[in-house]
Amino acid sequence: MEHFDVLIVGAGPAGSILARDLREKSDLKVGIFEKESFSGEKKVCGGGLNENIVKKLNLPGDIIDKKIKTYFAYMNEKEFNHTDKIDLYSIRREVFDRYLADRAVEAGAEMYVNTAISNVNIVKKGELELCTANARFKTKCAVFADGVSSKLRRNFNIGFHATKENHWKSLVYEIECDNPPDIMDFFYGSNVATLGYAWQFPKKDHLNVGIVIHSKYSTLNKLKMGLNWVINNYINNKYDTGKVAKVGNAIIPIKSVGEYSSDLGLLAIGDAAGFLRPFDGGGIEFAMESAFLASEKIIEFIENGTTLKKYDDEIKVQSWYKKNKVENILMNVFEKYPHLYHYFFRTRILPNLI
Ligand SMILES: Cc1cc2nc3c(=O)[nH]c(=O)nc-3n(C[C@H](O)[C@H](O)[C@H](O)COP(=O)(O)OP(=O)(O)OC[C@H]3O[C@@H](n4cnc5c(N)ncnc54)[C@H](O)[C@@H]3O)c2cc1C
Repeated sequence: MEHFDVLIVGAGPAGSILARDLREKSDLKVGIFEKESFSGEKKVCGGGLNENIVKKLNLPGDIIDKKIKTYFAYMNEKEFNHTDKIDLYSIRREVFDRYLADRAVEAGAEMYVNTAISNVNIVKKGELELCTANARFKTKCAVFADGVSSKLRRNFNIGFHATKENHWKSLVYEIECDNPPDIMDFFYGSNVATLGYAWQFPKKDHLNVGIVIHSKYSTLNKLKMGLNWVINNYINNKYDTGKVAKVGNAIIPIKSVGEYSSDLGLLAIGDAAGFLRPFDGGGIEFAMESAFLASEKIIEFIENGTTLKKYDDEIKVQSWYKKNKVENILMNVFEKYPHLYHYFFRTRILPNLI
């Protein structure tokens, strides 16, 4: 059986950033498992990044499809906000995730692709086993970076577990459009969703047009109706669109509750922990921030025997975590009075989305 200091499940942004950071800051033996042939291959995402992510990851220009300065927001039939002063970046996940995974491997992490982890066993504190269909791996610390939908965490009281009313449901279309303008759009109002919104992010050769609706109010039919309303009333009039080339759906955590680590040698980062912005479902920034924090605490756990629970303590004092907690409380109000969600966005001076 092969032995590692740290094993990471999932080579999405959270897992790859953690693997790279651990290798750059220590000599720990790090392994990372990805069930797909590469992460990002099947990822449903808007692919919007803010300046903080681009700077901290030092992303090269060729990873970015569009740098976006202009933003329009619409409430049902009317434009209600417009600015030319935002700093947002549009990426394709198959490019972004692959870039991050390559950097992790370059830093010395061992990557196992097409390899799903099916079980995690705790032998004792600091001694864990990760199982695939035909092999077992030993480690001192195992990290759940396995995204929102993975069932792997179900035996542990760690990270995000979907219930009926704690997530967004989404539907995303990739619509052909040759070199669209560097403009993004957001759509709110009852014609779009009872509680939710839609967006348009331009990519090099298509528009990423998607919708999220709170799971309490969402059905596939409502997602389709809201998105089609946006496409027929705005997208097809504003842009030179072709056919829908790709359709995808996924869920996004709204409420992250509970614990994020166990002193036995387990922790959760990114979507697996439920670290997403409740108002809009942006999560790549928190995947990155939680990965950096986890890296620091894992090194202390393995090299100095410090408790891993320090990860939970540190997470809970981060300003982004506290801000998300406030949004959680407001989302509880919006769940009861959904029209307030749209009102809230309409009356904000500049919605700081993503
Ligand atoms: C419709 C939609 C739009 C979004 N738009 C944005 C946006 O514009 N900006 C933004 O910041 N965020 C956005 N998000 C959120 C963003 O996609 C996530 O926050 C981000 O992907 C989190 O990264 P992660 O590494 O934690 O998880 P993931 O990216 O989900 O990566 C998890 C990885 O683990 C792998 N895996 C799962 N189980 C196993 C297993 N058992 N064994 C091995 N591998 C496994 C998966 O294949 C996957 O590659 C959006 C999400 C959705 C659904």
